[in-house]
Amino acid sequence: MAAQILSGITIRDQIYADLAGDIVKLTSAGIRPGLAAVLVGENPASKVYVKSKIAACEKLGLASFHITPPASMTTEELLALIRELNHRDEVDGILVQLPLPPQIDSKRILEAIDPAKDVDGFHPVSVGHLVAGRPALVACTPAGVMEIFKRSGIALEGANAVVLGRSDIVGKPMALLLIHANATVTVCHSKTRNLPEVVRRADIVVAALGRACMVTPEYVRPGATVIDVGINRVTDAAQAEGFFAHFPERLAEFRAKGHALVGDVHPDVASVAGALTPVPGGVGPLTIAMLMSNTVKAARLRRGSRAAGGSARP
Ligand code: NDP
Repeated sequence: MAAQILSGITIRDQIYADLAGDIVKLTSAGIRPGLAAVLVGENPASKVYVKSKIAACEKLGLASFHITPPASMTTEELLALIRELNHRDEVDGILVQLPLPPQIDSKRILEAIDPAKDVDGFHPVSVGHLVAGRPALVACTPAGVMEIFKRSGIALEGANAVVLGRSDIVGKPMALLLIHANATVTVCHSKTRNLPEVVRRADIVVAALGRACMVTPEYVRPGATVIDVGINRVTDAAQAEGFFAHFPERLAEFRAKGHALVGDVHPDVASVAGALTPVPGGVGPLTIAMLMSNTVKAARLRRGSRAAGGSARP
């Protein structure tokens, strides 16, 4: 039986519909949530990501501040810019698009962001809150994955969950969120032994490896829910033929364009899994949706109580 396809686009639209109500409440109190997106230099992929984030702000009626300093800037100059954004009241969220140019100390930059405006959830204070189980602003990609579970009715309590990857931006926060949701969590990485065997025990698999189509059907227990976080660009025809052997439409699309996006999960997993997110159109749209959600939340937490004259809810 083919897996249920969990569309990130449908879930994103639900999140935006929910957010619209919060945005109306804030704007009627004179607060227009605002996101500052800092893009240092000319990295083409980063430009595309920042453009999508600004477009999402515009779609939802949030204010956006697109700041594009040159690639030659120093750590001190960028720190000064962050300090200025920390002080601007109309800026609720600060997003520094990664990667930064090599001469810039990324850690110092991320740690300089006011935690109340840390809409990416990368600041050590945000990470500490997540570890302690009282998060406010959670890293967007794992937060988006949790929305998939919640809005698709996938039960986590008591489930065996395997997270593939232990990065600070996906794997680790994902594992913490699953622990707080009462799943039994195993985190795998490049030194894990007998990986397919470990993954086969899972009811829930979250793959965030950055390895095109590595998770093949033999990794997956029949009926498991598989969330594919990976985004990999394939340009090699032989590779594409292997990945899309059972998906003639995708192969035709690859041949027409000369490239394709694939996840970390092989498309053939659809014949084994109970539910599966597609790539593209799965986790990707939710990352931006959760950035919007965090910006609105940051505005409510920081400025909402002032407007309402009461305390802000988390
Ligand atoms: P990283 O490269 O930071 O981390 C990859 C992790 O996978 C590491 O923990 C690494 O192990 C592990 N790993 C790599 N190869 C293997 C292997 N062969 N066997 C077992 N473990 C392995 O990647 P990110 O977490 O930043 O991103 C992961 C993927 O998710 C990428 O494809 C990225 O493009 C995508 N992504 C998608 C987003 C979205 O919006 N959908 C957002 C963010 C990322 P070790 O620690 O031992 O090196």
